[in-house]
Amino acid sequence: MIDFHTHSAASDGALPASDLIARAAAEGVSRFALTDHDTVHGYLSVYQESPPDLDLISGVELSCQWGRVGIHVVGLGFRIEAAEMKAHLVILDAARKDRAERIAHRLEREGMQGALEGALAVAAGAQIGRPHFARWMVSAGHVANEQEAFKRFLGSGKPGDISILWPALQETVEVITRSGGVAVLAHPLHYRMTATRLRALADAFCEAGGGAIEIINGRPKPGEREQLWRLASARNLRVSVGSDFHRDTPYGASLGVSVTDIPEGMGVWETL
Ligand code: AMP
Ligand code: MN
Ligand code: MN
Ligand code: MN
Repeated sequence: MIDFHTHSAASDGALPASDLIARAAAEGVSRFALTDHDTVHGYLSVYQESPPDLDLISGVELSCQWGRVGIHVVGLGFRIEAAEMKAHLVILDAARKDRAERIAHRLEREGMQGALEGALAVAAGAQIGRPHFARWMVSAGHVANEQEAFKRFLGSGKPGDISILWPALQETVEVITRSGGVAVLAHPLHYRMTATRLRALADAFCEAGGGAIEIINGRPKPGEREQLWRLASARNLRVSVGSDFHRDTPYGASLGVSVTDIPEGMGVWETL
């Protein structure tokens, strides 16, 4: 089993990185990447003491923009000390702090005072994101649950959805490849694009030097995997897989994806 898309408490996951990798090893995952949003702090805290039977590779899920659309690109197997990657993460760090201030401002206009302090307290030093605002909104009694927070305030097109600050897709892919890693287009079906737009995105990703498409993210619906397989193979891109695990939920994916039925020569793991 492989898992090349997971989150720890260094971003918006529930488990500390050390607990996450211990659990992955215990559940039989052999190759693993921690891909926190725009930070490698979780990876840095564990990579020197990872379990012997777990092959831990460097990872990150980078926020970027393609036109006006927010896109996630997973970077795998890059040099953790690469100056370009470090500089890019500094930019993203600042962008997230700036965005958090703007989100808070919007939420305050909606009558929720103290949003920035609240979300920062929830994040407790983690890379700040909308899920931290959602959790604060629940604890402050503004919404009943995190789903409602996204549906009413944080999700696409809502007041707290501010997505104009990320670096471009092309630059993001280039940073990963120049840092010695492989860029993976994450969860292509989450962007709610038409098939034509999605093909254009895959073309742009390919042109920028992208290496693989994530064909399994969490629990795919019937047919999705096949659709993404075609998107990858038509461009000679490899495929990647991951649970996108954040925390235990009743219907969420557990850690690890079996790759026994993926033909040889297609998996991005064969190149890492
Ligand atoms: P951000 O990285 O700050 O843009 O926040 C995006 C993250 O929020 C995603 O990685 C998910 O973990 C989470 N998320 C996105 N949509 C929802 C939703 N509708 N309900 C709960 N969590 C969500
Ligand atoms: Mn997330
Ligand atoms: Mn994502
Ligand atoms: Mn993710």
